[in-house]
Amino acid sequence: PITTISDHMENSEVLHPKSYKRINQATTIAVAEGDGIGPEIMRATLNILKAAGANIKTEPIEVGQQVYLSGNSSGITEESWKTISKNKVILKAPITTPQGKGYKSLNVTLRKSLGLFSNVRPVSSLHPYVHTNFPEMDIVVIRENEEDLYAGIEHRQTEDVVQCLKLITRPGCEKIVRYAFEYARAYNRKKVTCMVKDNIMKLTDGLFHTVFKEIAAEYSDIESNAQIIDIGSAKIAASPENFDVIVTSNLYGDIISDIVAEIGGSVGMAGSANVGKNVAMFEAIHGSAPDIAGKKIANPSGLLNGAILMLAHIGQAEVADKIKNAWLTTLEDGIHTADVYQKGKSTKKVNTEEFTEAVIERL
Ligand code: NAD
Repeated sequence: PITTISDHMENSEVLHPKSYKRINQATTIAVAEGDGIGPEIMRATLNILKAAGANIKTEPIEVGQQVYLSGNSSGITEESWKTISKNKVILKAPITTPQGKGYKSLNVTLRKSLGLFSNVRPVSSLHPYVHTNFPEMDIVVIRENEEDLYAGIEHRQTEDVVQCLKLITRPGCEKIVRYAFEYARAYNRKKVTCMVKDNIMKLTDGLFHTVFKEIAAEYSDIESNAQIIDIGSAKIAASPENFDVIVTSNLYGDIISDIVAEIGGSVGMAGSANVGKNVAMFEAIHGSAPDIAGKKIANPSGLLNGAILMLAHIGQAEVADKIKNAWLTTLEDGIHTADVYQKGKSTKKVNTEEFTEAVIERL
């Protein structure tokens, strides 16, 4: 069986790659190619994993646009659910979800159905190799992943009035807040900041804040504070170096993590882990980028960083480190895709395939 991050939480050896059990047989990963740039960045990522000697097998799952277009409104086939429940680890490229109409987001369905309660999104500056105005920033956003306005409870009251329910539960808050503190401890982080808007949403965000204060009191070794989300976001945009771990609810976490990734270099660079008790799903934080799909210029780094988190999760931290180092060296050598390319700083503007080859050469 795969040792999940939550298993470690229970025996308090949480989250540190060193504490993952080493597993000698190949781990089978359910792989979703995704939409838009998805297949391009998935190919790049899997080629790098293979060249690095990752001990994995892959089984494809069918999700997203093709499935919707075939008439299956859930966006995922029965066969894919079986593959997921058998393998328990998913590597997923981004999928397209229509705005303002059409089918429900499959991302939300996967996170909710599989109980992936925690969405971990680390971003640290790669200054001076990748341009950022904030050379010192090093933030991990830990986003609650099942509740809040994303619970999908939305309905029409009258022709002109629509309603979306903000669902926050005490068990949901406890799980995510404790996860954030355990993460901070395991990764030697100094501070956890809670972001809420409980001056307005006194019950829902109020509950999140109350639970945060209760649990923070159990972790006297870690500094904690809470900020109102609007001014807190402004402070992230102005001085992200003052933040460490941020824990927040689903919608705020979605928005903040994109801001953090973009000011850290590019939204195309950050990876994420969606962690549950039995299953974990790894992906890029960005979407399917339809504006550049098929142009072969996408930066595969976001999905690659998701895959690096996945390798640590399945007990292959050494391969994860090897890939991370090769990726960093590639960036240090100034080999950059268009989204991070900077005249004068970068040495070469490359497409997806050339970037992939450059990482492989440096393994
Ligand atoms: P997006 O993240 O796809 O793109 C935003 C901008 O960033 C675009 O200009 C795009 O070209 C650029 N970008 C994103 N990833 C890049 C990369 N790897 N390399 C270079 N540039 C990159 O956001 P969007 O356009 O708002 O969303 C497109 C679709 O993706 C929507 O249907 C949305 O629902 C979906 N989406 C899916 C996920 C997911 O599957 N986890 C997450 C977010 C959005």
